[in-house]
Amino acid sequence: MDSVPSLELKPLIGLSKDQLLAILVGVPKFRATQIWNWIYFQGVASFDQMTNLPKDLREKLKENYSIERPQISNHQKSMDGTQKWLLKFPDGQEIETVFIPEDSRGTLCVSSQVGCTLTCKFCHTGTQLLVRNLTAAEIVAQVMVARDLLEDWPTKTENRKLTNIVFMGMGEPLYNYENVAQALKIIMDEDGLWFSKKRITLSTSGVVPMIEQCGKELGVNLAISLHAPNDDLRTKIIPLNNKYPLKELIDVCRNYPGTEKGQRITFEYVMLKDVNDSESHARELIRLIKGIPSKINLIPFNPWPGSGFERSTSARIKEFSALLEKAGYASPIRRPRGEDILAACGQLKSESKRVVKHKRDPFDFEKANIS
Ligand code: SAH
Ligand code: SF4
Repeated sequence: MDSVPSLELKPLIGLSKDQLLAILVGVPKFRATQIWNWIYFQGVASFDQMTNLPKDLREKLKENYSIERPQISNHQKSMDGTQKWLLKFPDGQEIETVFIPEDSRGTLCVSSQVGCTLTCKFCHTGTQLLVRNLTAAEIVAQVMVARDLLEDWPTKTENRKLTNIVFMGMGEPLYNYENVAQALKIIMDEDGLWFSKKRITLSTSGVVPMIEQCGKELGVNLAISLHAPNDDLRTKIIPLNNKYPLKELIDVCRNYPGTEKGQRITFEYVMLKDVNDSESHARELIRLIKGIPSKINLIPFNPWPGSGFERSTSARIKEFSALLEKAGYASPIRRPRGEDILAACGQLKSESKRVVKHKRDPFDFEKANIS
């Protein structure tokens, strides 16, 4: 499990079914189906386990390809059962993946990039300097590693430990759309990992031009990191809002495929003390999203060293939630998970980069004119 996959061997994990067929030149088509089944349904991690393949084919595959998992360079378990894995890829880059067990489900929070090019002021990942897109292979591998460690193979129809996937780890998935889409098609494939699109949620900070395509091509649930009810405030805490202001973002949400049938959009709203948590913010938010089938997830801010923000008080969060509920919106308050291992929303940042960290000044309330 802990071996580092070689740079020379090409990964088979992450190839689409067509790409897999294309590399198996001269091999009968049904072999590709068998290989797919071994990798994604049975979850084997070596070609030797593919016992129904001819030996020479197995040898050829071994010489050129790898189905090894990334190295797990750290594994932590929180007091509340949340687990966090630091995965290391052959080029030395690392990302974090988090498993959150609950009574009736088990959710994997996957990363889409090493770090993030965006710089949302309240997010630890946004302070990481080194950034690159994850390949489809690296995204799919996160799900496979989780299934390995949870002993959740072969793919089950019932009593799975890992039931849901959220793209809420490191990175902005819609800035790596192609690889995320390819990975998701593999993750949703019914002959393999087989996660229903209803059990997958993609969270975006608001990359407007990619949202419609995501809905049409993938049909997964959409979560929008809204966090502020007007452009002025949103731009201060999410600089991307300058490029894609709220009107455009809300319009594209209104038209997200599925909403016409009542499928709900999730709006995420991080509760930042004295920044976005007043009664008037709640009222403005209600006006903003009027008419969109939606729920609002209130996320108590998860602190990290030097952020400059504080979490809103519990009383404030409850009042905020009550106002939204009164207006007809479900607005659950997310229970922070894995805080003791820095695994909660927005706290992810690879350890290795912490050593050479890029220090960002704490958020300056006076300069931002928030009081
Ligand atoms: N880049 C994507 C997905 C990853 S972040 C996005 O921004 O949507 C997942 C969620 O955690 C987002 O809603 C993000 O805004 C939120 N988040 C970031 N930092 C946080 C923090 N310190 N406390 C609580 N939530 C945070
Ligand atoms: Fe990137 Fe999302 Fe963090 Fe913003 S909140 S910096 S988009 S990971």
